[in-house]
Amino acid sequence: MRAGQRTSYGVHSSILLLTVSMGIALACAPGPDDAALRDAAGSTDDWLSHGRGYAEQRFSPLAEIHDGNVQSLGLAWSFATDTTRGLEATPLVHDGILYTTGAWSVVFAIDAGSGRELWRFDPQVPRETGAKACCDVVNRGVALYRGRIYVGTLDGRLLALDEMTGEPVWEVLTVDPTRPYTITGAPRVVKGKVVIGNGGAEFGVRGYVSAYDAATGELAWRFYTVPGDPALPVESPALERALPTWKGGEWWKVGGGGTVWDSLAYDPELDLLYVGTGNGSPWTREIRSPGGGDNLYLSSILALRPDTGELVWHYQTTPGDSWDYTATQHMILADLVIEGRERKVLMQAPKNGFFYVLDRATGELLSADAYVPVNWAERVDLVTGRPLIDPRARYAFDPTDVMPGPTGAHSWHPMSYNPDTGLVYLPAQQIPFSFRRDPAFVYRPGGWNLGLDMVWSATSFGKGTLAGVLIAWDPVARSERWRVPHRRPWNGGTLTTAGNLVFQGNGEARFEAYRATDGERLFSAPAGTGVIAPPVSYRVDGEQYVSVMAGWGGGFALASADPPEETLAGGNAGRLLTFKLGGDARLPQPQRVARSLEPIVADLPAAEVAAGMRVFHEWCVACHGPAAIGGGTIPDLRTAAPAVYDALPKIVLEGALRSKGMPGFGEWLDVNDVAVLRAYLLSRRAELATEQ
Ligand code: CA
Repeated sequence: MRAGQRTSYGVHSSILLLTVSMGIALACAPGPDDAALRDAAGSTDDWLSHGRGYAEQRFSPLAEIHDGNVQSLGLAWSFATDTTRGLEATPLVHDGILYTTGAWSVVFAIDAGSGRELWRFDPQVPRETGAKACCDVVNRGVALYRGRIYVGTLDGRLLALDEMTGEPVWEVLTVDPTRPYTITGAPRVVKGKVVIGNGGAEFGVRGYVSAYDAATGELAWRFYTVPGDPALPVESPALERALPTWKGGEWWKVGGGGTVWDSLAYDPELDLLYVGTGNGSPWTREIRSPGGGDNLYLSSILALRPDTGELVWHYQTTPGDSWDYTATQHMILADLVIEGRERKVLMQAPKNGFFYVLDRATGELLSADAYVPVNWAERVDLVTGRPLIDPRARYAFDPTDVMPGPTGAHSWHPMSYNPDTGLVYLPAQQIPFSFRRDPAFVYRPGGWNLGLDMVWSATSFGKGTLAGVLIAWDPVARSERWRVPHRRPWNGGTLTTAGNLVFQGNGEARFEAYRATDGERLFSAPAGTGVIAPPVSYRVDGEQYVSVMAGWGGGFALASADPPEETLAGGNAGRLLTFKLGGDARLPQPQRVARSLEPIVADLPAAEVAAGMRVFHEWCVACHGPAAIGGGTIPDLRTAAPAVYDALPKIVLEGALRSKGMPGFGEWLDVNDVAVLRAYLLSRRAELATEQ
């Protein structure tokens, strides 16, 4: 069934009902083929690929909900994902069925009109994998092609599922399981190949992107983004050219980084696949490449041939990255008239704080302008295409305060482009960071390998002036048109529609709509918990819906220890929220989460507490929060039930709470580590009691 063949929907739907009620798998006309994916942005009812179309504009042509009636929007239905971790997925919709993912890479198929579950597929990701995930056990969604659903799992697998039943058709392991690779990004299907990258540069990996035959799962090609061990054969001419930009050091032992963990886009006319690459691994260039150099292809936008993986051009946003300035952020393709000339452009607002407009045929830089306060570079030179980096930003001080920080001025949260207004709606943030090198850095397999003082990094994180802001950016005028400030820095991705609207959930646990032309807030509804995911819009039986995943989490949420009150109150119960005009469904009331504060008397020698603080900030902080202050998605270890502290050896070393997502760390930690960890946690509990 091709997108746009709406008339067959009724038949399709009744077959599906029959299928589900009888528990029998019936063959059904398959989902979008190559032509449908190329035309996906033109389909009104469906949302067939991650960014809606290959250009990733996230613009819905639906206008039944518009700036004149959005006030009467209401909840149509909500769907419980049965998770308490971050939800970042973009749902896809095809012929009245919505496909989305939750924490631990679980896939859901849901009736898009009623919210009724049709099937769910749990890939059974081993909970140990959570220790390899820098930024929560999230997943950003699936790809849809010829009757199959494609999903990448946190433990590095790529699966093809049957669209109607969720039954696996094939499965491949896309990573070396002995290295700390994870997959959180959504695959894309281009010309019969499923394209997928991975993450892990905070721990130590070598980045790459792979393409697999959609029918069979056979590897078609793989492009490594950074050179490996120079003593071994070099994999591509592109890497031959990259090698001289790495100077001294033994980056390959840690991995080098450059992971392709989120953004992809495709231009069928130019036949170019655009790939965003991540930060260096370790973060500090001084360790990775002590002789300096640009370290290609870190923090870059790559244009590849989708048939072969051959590199056609590259643009590096942050040469010699030392600040976790990934260029994995959302890329939007559009045709803009710039200085009187129609240009095929690619737009990106990477973590480093500049909004880039490139000619996507050639990679030529057309403009780059700061969209938030930036101090690591003075500006980007449009002649050379290079940033004028302030040398002091390269850790000239101890510590060195840099803006933006590693959370980025904009992270993975998708932006959107409205061709009617000519504006890009960018979920931006200001989260400064204080960099302090670890002078005694040694590579620790299994641990974080940033090259930074981890106790300092964790305890200073989230200090300073934090801000979150929705920016309407004019990519032709190279300036901001309007902005909406948020109370928290970490907010949802955006959707824009032909109804002159911008939709965005936020860290204040609200779901809102703004007028696209001037940013006036026209609608606001409770979301039950903080929202970070981007909304989508679709139509079923002639009625327009807007749908968004609600589940607080992701990197900043885990590290910031400042969750929305609603998230704490409701235990971060994950949901898919779907709205329509006149919707009158009620959001389920939160069940209060128990917190134990009864004092525990224990002997806590200061030296043990200090040693425990170090263990905590090297191994536990990424999930349990700085100074053991919970971020709202994972238990706050200061308020655990008293028995938990006595069971720490079993929990931490043997993985007794593995089924709840707490991995065992017995491979790296011992009983002495756990003893000091207990002392530290009990001291933090006692401090909390005196604060109250
Ligand atoms: Ca990173």
